[in-house]
Amino acid sequence: MFKANEEYLKLPGSYLFSTIAKKTKAYTDAHPEASIIRLGIGDVTQPLPGAVIDALHKAVEEQAHAETFRGYAPDLGYSFLREIMAKEDYAARGCDIGADEIFISDGAKSDSANIQEIFAPECKIAVCDPVYPVYVDSNVMAGRTGTYDPDTQSWSNVIYMPCTAQNGFTPDFPDETPDMIYLCSPNNPTGAAMSRDSLQAWVDYANRVGAVILYDSAYEAYISEENIPHTIYECEGARTCAIELRSFSKNAGFTGLRLGTTVIPKDLCDRSGHALHPLWARRHGTKYNGAPYIVQRAGEAVYSPEGKAQVRQIIEGYMKNARFIRESLAEMGYEVYGGVNSPYIWLRTPGDMTSWAFFDHLLADANVVGTPGSGFGPAGEHYFRLTAFGSYENSVEAMRRIAKM
Ligand SMILES: *Cc1c(COP(=O)(O)O)cnc(C)c1O
Repeated sequence: MFKANEEYLKLPGSYLFSTIAKKTKAYTDAHPEASIIRLGIGDVTQPLPGAVIDALHKAVEEQAHAETFRGYAPDLGYSFLREIMAKEDYAARGCDIGADEIFISDGAKSDSANIQEIFAPECKIAVCDPVYPVYVDSNVMAGRTGTYDPDTQSWSNVIYMPCTAQNGFTPDFPDETPDMIYLCSPNNPTGAAMSRDSLQAWVDYANRVGAVILYDSAYEAYISEENIPHTIYECEGARTCAIELRSFSKNAGFTGLRLGTTVIPKDLCDRSGHALHPLWARRHGTKYNGAPYIVQRAGEAVYSPEGKAQVRQIIEGYMKNARFIRESLAEMGYEVYGGVNSPYIWLRTPGDMTSWAFFDHLLADANVVGTPGSGFGPAGEHYFRLTAFGSYENSVEAMRRIAKM
């Protein structure tokens, strides 16, 4: 008789979002007249930019003609997209990243989950707490994390780096030396962005201890402050210690269309001198058949002058919501973080309420749904996440209701 993969059986259920859905449904069943405002969403709501739509139409039309029809895409991505990214995302910022170091994929979720495959099972991972759950869960599936303690919500073989108001939501170097370090800046869920000096210190640390940094820059487009790096390759020495994950989801609204990239510099080698770049190329070639041609053309359009202007406008819309939410909550006396370089607002619950008690309070007394911070890790307890992905009207109405609670 076959046997299921035991590592998968170790995963605790996805408690956070199923509990939110259950509690919200129970409330709306009991109060069918309530108009609920959802500020828990981690998805964009604005339609795709016009330049993207035009590129999609054009690419679809090409598929009707033998001369322009495209079958399988190259495993690693079309060079038109890799080249424009090398130029716009890296060369334009003074970073030395070649088009052939950029791998095109269907998004940062799958790449951030799959990248661990090219590392040895005994590698020790370090993650921020609170954290985007994919980093830990994918390592659980790979059997790298030891045993789970439900009381502390932690795995015995994972190094947790608490990120709280005390350290400005930027992790301190851990006592124990990790092999793989997951960093996400601007951060989901805390909304914090690492300064150039902090990120440089992490790059120096990784090079010193022989660790690799897996850097998730999905929210790069939301950066508004000068001293925040847009890519880890702005830091000196990053080519020998960092892999960067990028996404078209949160900037250009590709959450449904699907497109992302992973950058692996050719200089990045393990301690025995094995380069990682060919391993990921081999992995892509075996397990992945390329992002669709039409979607890669749509991605290219994001870098056109019209595309850039349209994306800027969408982001400014979300950031207007973020600013309104942040400033309103601050005026009401809440301790508020994020929302400056990120669409996420991270607030301290009032009166030391637990994250879930505040969730219930907000749902019942303001009909607003958010996300309890403790759902992202123990250090998220007493915090709460709101997002700026709703409409401006709903953001304003939600703040009006919260002010009256
Ligand atoms: C939304 C998000 C992504 C993007 O994932 P895609 O698969 O590209 O849509 C990546 N990392 C974090 C932390 C996110 O919140």
